Amino acid sequence: MKTLRFYLDDCLKKGYAIGGYNFSNYESLRGICEGCKQTNSPALLCVSEGALSYLGEKFVVNMYESVKKEYKIPLFLHLDHGKSFEVCKKAIDAGFESVMIDASALAYEENVKLTKKVVDYAHKKGVIVEAELGVLAGIEDNVKAKKNRFTDPALAKSFVEKTGCDTLAVAVGTSHGAYKFKGKAKIHFDILSEIEKAIPSTPLVMHGASSVPQKYVKSINQYGGNIQGARGTSESILHELATAHNVYKINTDTDIRLCYMASIRKNLTDNPSNFDMRKPGKVAISEIAKLVAQKNEKVLNSQNKG
Ligand SMILES: [Zn+2]
Repeated sequence: MKTLRFYLDDCLKKGYAIGGYNFSNYESLRGICEGCKQTNSPALLCVSEGALSYLGEKFVVNMYESVKKEYKIPLFLHLDHGKSFEVCKKAIDAGFESVMIDASALAYEENVKLTKKVVDYAHKKGVIVEAELGVLAGIEDNVKAKKNRFTDPALAKSFVEKTGCDTLAVAVGTSHGAYKFKGKAKIHFDILSEIEKAIPSTPLVMHGASSVPQKYVKSINQYGGNIQGARGTSESILHELATAHNVYKINTDTDIRLCYMASIRKNLTDNPSNFDMRKPGKVAISEIAKLVAQKNEKVLNSQNKG
C-alpha cells in the first residue's frame, strides 16, 4: 500500500491533488470511502477538533482502522486544524498518520515555535505535519477569522526551513464555510506562484475550498431549511489549483455537510411516516459517495491513483 509520503511527491509530479474530506458521523465516513472506492482514489479522512470531541478519538481511530481494512485503498487519518500541541499529541498517540497544527492566528515567531514543537514530536513517530501560514476568512467549526491575511512568500520559505513542516496550508483567497464570497471568488494566483517559487518542493494545502453546489442549497431551502447567499469556490478554479500547481490536498468539509443535510431533509419530508433512521442514512451515504467520486474525477484528477 502506498504511503502518504509517497503521495506528497507523486501529487506534485503528476498534477493531481488528494481530497481532504471531513467526516463527523458514520454516514459521512461511509460515503467518502464509497466515493473514493468508485474512482480508486487516495483520500485524507479529516477530523476536526469539533468532530473529535463529538465522536471521541478511540471511536474515530476504530472506525478508521475498520474502513482501511475493508476498502483496501490508500486512506489516511488526518487531524484538521489542531490548535495546540496537546491535541496534536493526542491524535499522534492515537494513531493518526497526519496532523495539522494551525497556529496561524498567533504571531509569526509563536507560530514557528509551536509548529516546530509538533514537528519534533510527530517526526519521531513518522507522522506528517501540515502547518499554516496566513489566515483564511470565514467560519468552520472552531476556526473563525474576519479577514484574509495572505501568505507572505518570503516568510513561507523561512517558516518551512525553521519548522521542518512537511506541507503548508496557504491563504491566497479561498475562505472557510458556506458563505465564502459576496461577489466572485478571487484566488490570487500571483501570490501562489511566488510561494511556489520560494518553496518549490513543499506540497501546499488549500483550505476553504468547498464549491458549495447550489443544488444542495436549493434543496435545503426547499425542504424547510433557510440558507441564504451561500457561495463557494468554482470547480474550474479548484481544478486548476489541483492540476497546475503544487497543491497536494484540497479540503472539503462544507460540501459534504450540505450534501448530507439536503439529502436527509428531502428524505424526511418525502417519507413522513418513516421512523427508521437507516433509510435516510442509506440515501445520504450514496449522495455523499456521488459527490466525492465526482470531485475526485472532475476537480482533483485523483482517479486511478489509489
Ligand atoms: Zn480549514
